[in-house]
Formats: sequence, structure tokens, C-alpha cells
Amino acid sequence: MDDCLFCKIARKDIPAALVYEDDHLLAFKDIFPQAPVHLLIIPKAHCESLGDLTPEIAAATARIPQVAAKLAAEQGVQASGWRLLSNNGPDAGQSVFHLHFHLLGGKPLGAKLCV
Ligand code: 5GP
Ligand code: ZN
Repeated sequence: MDDCLFCKIARKDIPAALVYEDDHLLAFKDIFPQAPVHLLIIPKAHCESLGDLTPEIAAATARIPQVAAKLAAEQGVQASGWRLLSNNGPDAGQSVFHLHFHLLGGKPLGAKLCV
């Protein structure tokens, strides 16, 4: 999508601190980190949220937990613990409407999943 921020990052039209890339997935550092480790993992193909998966994007997205675990190990938070989550839609606070998963770690993240 022409005007989608994460599509632009996936196309390398705008820069991001990349930490992982394969044919279908990309991971990069969040620009406003909320934890010492805060990465975003996205399918390269545009998809607004988990409610809009195509079979192809679903297949790529299914590998995200495995990629997240590899990245958590590389970032040194495998043992201390980390969280993988995706905000979908307004009540979840989604602000970028290209499907993405947050990988957070490096500090105690708290027990609450919502306010
Ligand atoms: P959401 O609120 O949609 O779940 O998460 C969007 C995330 O994208 C936020 O954590 C925000 O900091 C991050 N973000 C927004 N703009 C940019 C950007 O231009 N580059 C990077 N790397 N992250 C961004
Ligand atoms: Zn997009």
C-alpha cells in the first residue's frame, strides 16, 4: 500500500533499525521503545490486522512466534522473559494499520494485559 508506514519500511523507502528479514517477514526496532527490548515483527505484505489475513499472509504470520523466540535469544531476554502481542483495532489501541507484533522484554513487564 502506497501510504502505509510499515509497507514503506518493508520496501526500504524509509529507514528502520532492522534486526531480521526473510522473504515474507521483517523485524525492526520500535521508534518509541516502551522497554529495553522493543521490536516490531511484520509480514512484508500489507494486511491491516489479524482480521484481514489472506492464506499467504497467515502462513507467514504463523512463523512469527518462532522468529520472535530467535530474536528474544539474540537480544538476551530469552531467560529473563519477554512478551509477544498484537494490537488489533481501536479498543486495542492499534495506531499503525499494518499487522505487527510487539516483542517486549528487558524489564519486568507487569502482570496486567490491559488497564
Ligand atoms: P500499535 O500502537 O499500532 O500497536 O503499534 C505501533 C508501533 O509502531 C508503536 O509502538 C510505535 O512506536 C511504532 N512506530 C510508529 N511509527 C514508527 C516508525 O516510523 N518507525 C518505527 N520503527 N516504529 C514506529
Ligand atoms: Zn502496509
